[in-house]
Amino acid sequence: MSHAHLPGRPHSRAVRIAVLGWAPDRRSPVSSTLAALRRWDVAAGLVLVGVFVLGVTAVRFAPPGSSVAVWWPAAGLCVAFLLATGPDVRRAAIVVVGVVVSSGLANFYGGRPPLAALCFGVANASEAALVWALLTRGRSKPRLASLDDLGRLLVATLAGALLFGLLAGLTVDLVLHRTFFPTAYTVTASHAAAVLTLAPLGVAVSTKATQPWRLEDLLQGLTVLGVTLWVFASTSGLPLAFLPLPILVWGAMRLDLRALATQLAVLGVIVVVLTSEGYGPFAIAGRTRDIAPETVGALTQAFLVTAAITGLALAVASTQRRDAVADLASEAAFTQTVLNSAAATAIIGTDADGTITLFNRGATNLLSYTPEEVIGTLNWVRLHEPAEIAMRATEVGVPAGPEVLVHLLTEAGRSETRDWTWVTREGKRLVVDLTISPIVDQDGTITGYIGVAEDVTERRVASEAVETALVRERRAVEELTALDQTKTDFVSSISHELRTPLASVLGYTEMLEDGAVGPMTDKQLDLVGRIDRNGRRLLGLIEDLLLNSRIESGQLNLARRPVDLAAIVDHAWEATGPLTQRRELHLRREVAVRPVTVDGDDTAIERVVLNLLSNAVKFTPDGGIVTLSLDTVRGPDKIERARVVVSDSGYGISADDQAQVFRRFFRATDATERAVQGTGLGLSIVQAIVEGHDGTIEVESELGRGSTFTVLFPLAATPAAPAVAAPGARRR
Ligand code: ADP
Repeated sequence: MSHAHLPGRPHSRAVRIAVLGWAPDRRSPVSSTLAALRRWDVAAGLVLVGVFVLGVTAVRFAPPGSSVAVWWPAAGLCVAFLLATGPDVRRAAIVVVGVVVSSGLANFYGGRPPLAALCFGVANASEAALVWALLTRGRSKPRLASLDDLGRLLVATLAGALLFGLLAGLTVDLVLHRTFFPTAYTVTASHAAAVLTLAPLGVAVSTKATQPWRLEDLLQGLTVLGVTLWVFASTSGLPLAFLPLPILVWGAMRLDLRALATQLAVLGVIVVVLTSEGYGPFAIAGRTRDIAPETVGALTQAFLVTAAITGLALAVASTQRRDAVADLASEAAFTQTVLNSAAATAIIGTDADGTITLFNRGATNLLSYTPEEVIGTLNWVRLHEPAEIAMRATEVGVPAGPEVLVHLLTEAGRSETRDWTWVTREGKRLVVDLTISPIVDQDGTITGYIGVAEDVTERRVASEAVETALVRERRAVEELTALDQTKTDFVSSISHELRTPLASVLGYTEMLEDGAVGPMTDKQLDLVGRIDRNGRRLLGLIEDLLLNSRIESGQLNLARRPVDLAAIVDHAWEATGPLTQRRELHLRREVAVRPVTVDGDDTAIERVVLNLLSNAVKFTPDGGIVTLSLDTVRGPDKIERARVVVSDSGYGISADDQAQVFRRFFRATDATERAVQGTGLGLSIVQAIVEGHDGTIEVESELGRGSTFTVLFPLAATPAAPAVAAPGARRR
């Protein structure tokens, strides 16, 4: 990658990847597959040649005086290669067929008749295939990661050797016409020993090395080699065959599986070769103690099997332990990271007595203690405000110690959350929201506690402030309501008091107008007329105020009964006479149906119509039109209702003001500017009355073009009794 550092040239993707230590594979998938296949091909070819060579020479692996091989490394080699190949059925089949051929050829070359040679070839291949099938089960790569896996390896090895023993015995019996048994069990043992020492190599090829290479490994390897050579090349005849075992155990405890499997294979080769050459404890025992060569063979096999089982079992167990320790360490590191990343949350662990055993970064941030200052030395009750602990202790009836914090947490799965006051290292007080849970072991004994806390001082202060503000507001509302009631009562009693003297003023004015105290001049009559008009306006105003008070205190008190709306509308129309007398307006009344019965308070409804009419008259200049109409309509809900419409061609109401006209005391600015009389109470009363009748009122208007007020009332179920439709007039 020399161009990777050319100045001023941006790194290409390939370069960047290469810098990161990985170069993209530029070969096509097909060619790389072919390359891998070719490599496997070469290995498979070599193995098959090996099987042939080992088969031809295996007879040399017989103890002196015996013609039966102690070890059949060809079997071990093909099983190991098949296991290394993995669950690839096609490749396995190629190897199996290859084994039939190469092993058959070896036997033929060794002087066996063609048929027997073929049968031995088939027996060898069947053994390898069976072990492979049992260990891969057609889908997974064989492993030696647990003692269960080792158990499976032993079972498969034994099954394979037995199958071979059976097939070889049968071949010997049927084809070569010799006895079945001696051959069967001897070859079973020699194959078992060979497969057990060599197959782990095949499995180990695919396992990853779990630790880096160390000097100790070299030392152990050399020791095992040296001791084995020394013991098995010795001619002293001392029974020291056990000596390599402790060194193998050392290796099993410390090495990874691959190294151990290699040592087992090497051990097997050395032991078998030297023993068959007449060296070592077994061969010498055979010579000096008159032990049958077969027994020497059996002893050698037993030694190899023992070494393999001991070494593998220990290696697997210690690898598992090493992995577990590594997992635990990484889990602990992970937990530590999680604990410390909670920078604003204190997580404190304690033992059963409350002595702190864990103190995360959040705890340090909150309390200013470092873990070193508190772990193993401080009881967490000392982090708490003593007065609070004492108070709570009396409350729950336990001694004022760590017990106060955890007296409720008697079993697994319980936890308790409450606010506590903590005292920091500098003596500052914090309110924390602390959740404590017990840590319980497998027997259900509480071994400690874990507390998770957050500083809620500010939150608590804020919520207290909000609460105080709420209380204050509630009090203010109560005071205002009381004040409002006083005002309503005041207005209502004043209005009452005003009404009586005003009524007598109006009564006397009427008497004057009627000439009860003698005839009056025109000038006098005009003045008395003015007194009368203004008096009546005042009376209307007082009545509006009274009614408004009643509405405000929810005492509209409508006396509803079936009434004829047409009659009410007529009545209101007539009552507007005095208002329109001196005006030049085109007045139209359109009553489409009669009677129109509604369930209503006739006086109140007349007030509605009169009010709308008087507004229309007030807000329409001379020459304009005022229309009052009554009919019935069917709404979108298909229900028929009575409709009263009062429209005019007057000043109109702006869109903004339309939303406000029903508000109490609202008067549009132009109404004030034009000095039109009014209080702004009329429409709010109208709306209250209409709604009190389950009706609706709407306004449509355009500035300068007039307004239309539409009132809808529900129709009554029963028609009106004709006698009741005679409400009293009201003038304004
Ligand atoms: P008041 O008539 O005593 O002022 P209302 O509550 O009856 O009080 O009406 C409120 C306001 O609505 C009026 O001041 C006026 O500005 C507006 N308004 C009501 N009816 C009409 C109308 N027909 N045309 C124009 N403006 C109207």
